[in-house]
Amino acid sequence: MSSTTNRRFEGKVAIITGASTGLGPVMAQMMAQEGAKLVLAARRLELVEQAASAIGADVLAVRADVTNEEDVAAMVEAAMSRWGQVDVMMNNAAVPGTDKFIWEQTVDNFLDTYKVDCMAAMLCTREVLNRSMLERRAGSIVNFSSSAGWDGMVRKSHYSAAKGALRILTKTVAREVGEYGIRCNCVVPGAIGTDLMVNYIKRVATEQGKSVEEIEAGIVAPLPLKTFSTPEDVARTALFLASDEARTITGQSINVDAGLVMS
Ligand code: NAD
Repeated sequence: MSSTTNRRFEGKVAIITGASTGLGPVMAQMMAQEGAKLVLAARRLELVEQAASAIGADVLAVRADVTNEEDVAAMVEAAMSRWGQVDVMMNNAAVPGTDKFIWEQTVDNFLDTYKVDCMAAMLCTREVLNRSMLERRAGSIVNFSSSAGWDGMVRKSHYSAAKGALRILTKTVAREVGEYGIRCNCVVPGAIGTDLMVNYIKRVATEQGKSVEEIEAGIVAPLPLKTFSTPEDVARTALFLASDEARTITGQSINVDAGLVMS
């Protein structure tokens, strides 16, 4: 992998969903440093505007619910009308849903999670393919799964099933668009030290009457490398997959999880 002093995204246009908190703004910052023009999208415009203003030029902030077809069309239109092309689609937006054992699971919780964590990647992928990538016969799509999507996770059937399905969506897209010179891959993080994980750990600690440190220790103990990944760790792999350095890699799910899953 190249260092971030490279300019792998010079002249390229990338869309990052879920760009208001956690991994999204970190990837945005790193891609901008490497020359990308960016559309940052999330539901809360003020947050995504903050992320965009921290970057500066060549970045558009867009309010979009990625489960809504019209919002997705407008998000891609923002990139097309400003720059005329989309080279990279980062399908990063996700929700954790509400923790429930399978015997408590509800249709709403299951489907609401599935819509953001899998279906939205289909919508965004379809839109960038139809508006730009197929015609230009170029592009790279990166999806963001979770180690829960390999082995399942207690009280997260909704999230695990959606994230597992996302890996299969990745392979199917890769098979369909390969002959157009377009790639589709998936990053599979384990625990990343973002607000999503911090809030999850706090909630579990409260539920179990344990300290945050005890819950963290329980997560880290089975990991060969005994550490959480940072957003930058995950972002580096995502940027590699998005870039031409990965030009012959497609349909892959790459774990960034301190060794949790060895597939
Ligand atoms: P995060 O919750 O901080 O960020 C997700 C973003 O998606 C948020 O900005 C949220 O507002 C946005 N979002 C949610 N629903 C949306 C919708 N309908 N439309 C538009 N935006 C929407 O999470 P993160 O920790 O930065 O995670 C980034 C990716 O990595 C996600 O796909 C997540 O599932 C995955 N992941 C994270 C962890 C972790 O430990 N944090 C572990 C495994 C996988």
